[in-house]
Amino acid sequence: MPPDYSGDERKESSKRQPGAEYDEERHIKPYILKPENGPRVVQFYSPWSGHCQSYKAKYIDVAKEINLRTPLDQPEITFHAISCSVYHWVCVQNKIKGFPTIFALKANSAEPQILKDPSADEIAHAVGVKLKPLDQDYTRSQKTGDDTFRPVDILGASIDGLVRTREAVYIDAALSFTHALKTEIYSRQGYLDSSQRETFSDWIDLLYWALPPTWILHTLINDIRNNMDSVMLSEENLLYLVNKHNEVVNGKQQNWSPQCSKGTYGQGYPCGLWSLFHIVSIGVIERHRAVLGAKDQISTEFAAQTMRNYVEHFFGCESCRKYFLDMYDNCGFNHCQRFKQPKKLPPPESWNQFALWLWEVHNDVNKKVIEAESSRERVASLKQKLQQAAWPTTDVCPECKDKRGKWNIDVVLRHLKKQYWPGGVQNFRYVVLKKKESKNDEKAWRGELLENTFFVLVSVGIIIWCTKKQYVSFTGQHKKYEDFV
Ligand SMILES: Cc1cc2nc3c(=O)[nH]c(=O)nc-3n(C[C@H](O)[C@H](O)[C@H](O)COP(=O)(O)OP(=O)(O)OC[C@H]3O[C@@H](n4cnc5c(N)ncnc54)[C@H](O)[C@@H]3O)c2cc1C
Repeated sequence: MPPDYSGDERKESSKRQPGAEYDEERHIKPYILKPENGPRVVQFYSPWSGHCQSYKAKYIDVAKEINLRTPLDQPEITFHAISCSVYHWVCVQNKIKGFPTIFALKANSAEPQILKDPSADEIAHAVGVKLKPLDQDYTRSQKTGDDTFRPVDILGASIDGLVRTREAVYIDAALSFTHALKTEIYSRQGYLDSSQRETFSDWIDLLYWALPPTWILHTLINDIRNNMDSVMLSEENLLYLVNKHNEVVNGKQQNWSPQCSKGTYGQGYPCGLWSLFHIVSIGVIERHRAVLGAKDQISTEFAAQTMRNYVEHFFGCESCRKYFLDMYDNCGFNHCQRFKQPKKLPPPESWNQFALWLWEVHNDVNKKVIEAESSRERVASLKQKLQQAAWPTTDVCPECKDKRGKWNIDVVLRHLKKQYWPGGVQNFRYVVLKKKESKNDEKAWRGELLENTFFVLVSVGIIIWCTKKQYVSFTGQHKKYEDFV
């Protein structure tokens, strides 16, 4: 039975966590305060301050208003909140004197303008973004409490009843994650071999850093990470943890949304799994800068490879697996080129490639599914059906395609983020990953050793040769050699 960490034991266990030795104060400047960012607003708050508590709702409202009034041709303004009780040193370094303090920062700038209880227009002006005028729809929805603007929670709400709400997307993804833990991980042979263990641990690490930090699913993920050895030892240990967290992460809702289940109870697993994959892929864009430690695991290529390995070892649908592995192992959708990133400072756009690649892959599967269904049912209007298979459809996102029907990739990416990433205010949080000793490291280490040995031998050779030469010129012993000649 896995140990139940509580109280002091939990504190002790957190000290043993990867990265516990990391000294944040000396090493880290929050990435949102660095210049390499778009326009953004950062609120420094104290959870205990009455002003902050009453300002919280207003800050969220302003963020939502700006989000709705930002035209597609303007950069997105992101909203962040830093707790000064957690990141005390950040607040000291930024000379925060009172709470809440609002910093507005322009794109590519680290020079904040400090604002006091700002309106949406004041913020937009400070960060250099033009907003659409406040229209009647927005004012009406404020009065009537229209669903579009309802602050559901940090995961947000959706506009269209037929389209899955973002909240439903997260419920579906969580259900598929726990379903997979219960039924897929140990399904093949009752134990995990070494490559399955590596894949499982990489997958959990990927979810740990790439999922939205505010998602309740982290309680389960953290518990799995804290008990990784025990979880990989037996199915019983894994099930124990899943059942312990099941109600918290899935709530009372233990069924996939109607859009995933198509009305059949218990159906919807692959649909929720896709949702989880897409959330991870957007998380790679949004969260890569929040990771400290194992930077070698933070790349589009590593994330995609981890997903590929997960499908290989733990996705039970055989035909799906076959398709996915064939596609991936043959550089499908050009990922071998698209995921190439320089080790140092990859360009910001390079992080988008994984999410866009996955979107293309999913659309390709949609097409395959429709074609298979049509050939079974002899559907005449295949062309029309295929058009609908391409996600997002034009009714949901008219701007995603241009007039000639070509995808507008920037808009598609924004749409993906809207569907798969929480809107509103992001609570600043770093994660620390422990560097793994990989085979590559071992190879690099051996190479280095060989290189150093070679260098030492050559240097010793040169020294011996020089000494000998000097000795000969001093003693004149070379004569002996000349005599011989
Ligand atoms: C990795 C993987 C591979 C699969 N391979 C196959 C296969 O080879 N053959 C097969 O028959 N089935 C395959 N499936 C199952 C199939 O893709 C569907 O999941 C299943 O048919 C259920 O379809 P659905 O209508 O619920 O929507 P799904 O395709 O499961 O999609 C779920 C939701 O994602 C959103 N969505 C749709 N397309 C995209 C997109 N391109 N980008 C972002 N979001 C999107 C929509 O909101 C949709 O409701 C695979 C599933 C997975 C997870």
